Amino acid sequence: MSDRIHDLIGIGFGPSNLALAIALHERKSPIDALFLETQPSFSWHPGMMMPGADMQISFLKDLVSLHNPTSGFSFLSYLHAKGRLERFINRKSFFPSRVEFNDYLSWAAAKLGSACAYDQRVTKVEPVEQHGEVTHLRIHTEDSAGRITLRQARQIVLAPGGQQHWPELFAPLRDSPCISHSNDFTQKLLPQVRPNQRIAVIGGGQSASEIFATLANHPAQLSVDLILRGHALKPADDSPFVNEVFDIAHTDLLHAMPSQQRDSFLRDFATTNYAVTDGDLLHQIYSLLYEQDVVGENRHALLRDTSPIAARRDTATVTLTLTGPDGRQDQVYDHVILCTGYRRDIAATCLSTLTPWMQSPEPDRQYRLPMRKGFHPAVYVQGYSEPTHGLSDTLLSVLAARAQEIAISAEQAQAVRLIAAE
Ligand SMILES: Cc1cc2nc3c(=O)[nH]c(=O)nc-3n(C[C@H](O)[C@H](O)[C@H](O)COP(=O)(O)OP(=O)(O)OC[C@H]3O[C@@H](n4cnc5c(N)ncnc54)[C@H](O)[C@@H]3O)c2cc1C
Repeated sequence: MSDRIHDLIGIGFGPSNLALAIALHERKSPIDALFLETQPSFSWHPGMMMPGADMQISFLKDLVSLHNPTSGFSFLSYLHAKGRLERFINRKSFFPSRVEFNDYLSWAAAKLGSACAYDQRVTKVEPVEQHGEVTHLRIHTEDSAGRITLRQARQIVLAPGGQQHWPELFAPLRDSPCISHSNDFTQKLLPQVRPNQRIAVIGGGQSASEIFATLANHPAQLSVDLILRGHALKPADDSPFVNEVFDIAHTDLLHAMPSQQRDSFLRDFATTNYAVTDGDLLHQIYSLLYEQDVVGENRHALLRDTSPIAARRDTATVTLTLTGPDGRQDQVYDHVILCTGYRRDIAATCLSTLTPWMQSPEPDRQYRLPMRKGFHPAVYVQGYSEPTHGLSDTLLSVLAARAQEIAISAEQAQAVRLIAAE
């Protein structure tokens, strides 16, 4: 450990902290910031990088444009640098492929040079106390070779994304090679599929639909069941009036509401993002099942109104007990894939060590967590305040604006500390 104390350390280097790094860079901020990322290089959701999957947000909601449309880090600047601007226009779509958006994000990350240290998994954030007051934080990381590094910072910004949600029923089988989470789909399951395998896809949202369609169209002649708790796959509402809930101004609107009103607002608009599928994909899946009927096949099925109630691991398979319209039945699968979403619980992250100091897990409007008296470092979170800041918080919609807000707040916190130290 060196004696150096960074002004700010960012935990995780996905789009949220990448946008913050760019904001600090473009503001020529006096803050000396370092970002720590567990992956060996920049990669956006590598486990769901299916060819053919498109973005669900306009390219104009990139890392910077809503704050600074003339930025050299915009998606348009990327297209120009890559020599694809005119051909992108000829596509006549606001929605790049996921592969292209990942390439854009990687290009932006590379432009920042050494802003991020990769292969650095943050394992612990430890308060450093002097005379009963926490002056700064010690950040522990481990690399892929098991080497530990300790760094210090006066401010941190947590942006590690969500934690895979494994329903209780499947938690004891987490080590089984026959069960995986959608987050690992293209890296774990896809490379190991063998001809004629039976696969269960559990869930009713975008990831479940994408994975079902990918496997059902796979040349290995797989048999795929899409197991759905509800009665139908439902479309994501991306109509224009509804889409305004992702506008930057909506953060202020929602934040100012009494908490009961906020909760009901979030419930009302949940069908923009949760347990829903893009209209195009939904039609593709319907046609796929229909064509199967036309040719008299039944390899793939949509098991609606159905839930798994037990899961048992056998030597190389998993047996699911399902309850549905036909009662209870056991089904044997070579692989089960959980498209059960993500959890966002600060206490389950590397900030768990700070919970005794937290006044509340609800950040303020500038995304800073309220801490108890005597705790001086500023602790910001990105992607952990949907209940208070709205549905855009876990998405890309307000990245550019949120990054500015955090950058300004962090600069102010630093100025206050320097004045107090004089
Ligand atoms: C398949 C998929 C597609 C999506 N598509 C869209 C879309 O089209 N439009 C949209 O608006 N939103 C989309 N989303 C939502 C998504 O959450 C956001 O796009 C975006 O990724 C959020 O960025 P983030 O930086 O907060 O989190 P993440 O992208 O999850 O990045 C977090 C980073 O932190 C790193 N990390 C985690 N823990 C640690 C640790 N302990 N130490 C160091 N590093 C760590 C991770 O490796 C990762 O690189 C999608 C989500 C998924 C899963």
